[in-house]
Amino acid sequence: MTTPYTGPLLGWYACHARDLPWRAPGTTPWSVLVSEIMLQQTPVARVVPAHRDWLARWPTPPALAAEPAGEAVRQWGRLGYPRRALRLHETATIVTARYGGTVPADFDVLLALPGIGAYTAAAVASFAFGQRHAVLDTNVRRVLARLVTGRARPAATPSVAERRMAESLLPAEPAVAAQWSVAVMELGALVCSAASPLCTACPVARDCAWLAAGRPAQPAGAGRRAQRYDGTDRQCRGRLLAVLRDSRAPATDADFCAVWADQAQLARALDGLVADGLVDPLPDGRYALPGHGSRRSSPRPAQPTASS
Ligand code: SF4
Repeated sequence: MTTPYTGPLLGWYACHARDLPWRAPGTTPWSVLVSEIMLQQTPVARVVPAHRDWLARWPTPPALAAEPAGEAVRQWGRLGYPRRALRLHETATIVTARYGGTVPADFDVLLALPGIGAYTAAAVASFAFGQRHAVLDTNVRRVLARLVTGRARPAATPSVAERRMAESLLPAEPAVAAQWSVAVMELGALVCSAASPLCTACPVARDCAWLAAGRPAQPAGAGRRAQRYDGTDRQCRGRLLAVLRDSRAPATDADFCAVWADQAQLARALDGLVADGLVDPLPDGRYALPGHGSRRSSPRPAQPTASS
């Protein structure tokens, strides 16, 4: 479908798109998939160097699958939410075993891979294979909410109606639809930001419902609060994983105690890392990244103490 937005937005994207490695001509589907997993919860500026290093080390799924999962966790570094590294390793292993080492193009096959939800499957199918799918990430949802429905923010989760609306806006030609999807995403990142949309620089301002309505404020309580990080279990998990990433040797309880003072919280975070498969407990009581030692079959016998 051609809408009043299509031409102006595609023209704007042709002039203003950022030069990102996963958009470069000839980029591989694996590069796109890795970028989408990294971008799920990490800003572009931090993903660019991490993506470059990841692709330099593992340019194909079989290259990653040939190494232990713990190496993926180590390479993940400080990108956050490190379960994504494990899922990426699992995906590389499945792609290698079932699909000859080539990232599959089919949406439903992509959707069945570990860590790949509807958004990521649509993004990889669109950006790596030029298919026609509604790609509903946070930026796209915000732009479409303002542009089409005149609301400052979308609902917490996409509804069937929202998905249908997004699909109805897609140009008919698959390659053009893929360009449209990435263009809307880029507009949300560079112009139609959450806090301060630059409507005077927007290529679709003339047809924007929210702007026409005078940019009505978000109803009270509808926005998302910023999440605290300092002192959380998440920060503790990050510190413990950093101990393992920064050393080739397994870690002891004392190594962990040196980076986190609250023993109850440390024990909880460590149990969570073990349960998530990000850390392997070893028979000698130490801990390693997955695949870097023989796993202990029983749970940790006791919480670590400062003297242990
Ligand atoms: S006119 Fe403003 S609110 Fe509307 S899409 Fe453009 S930047 Fe967003």
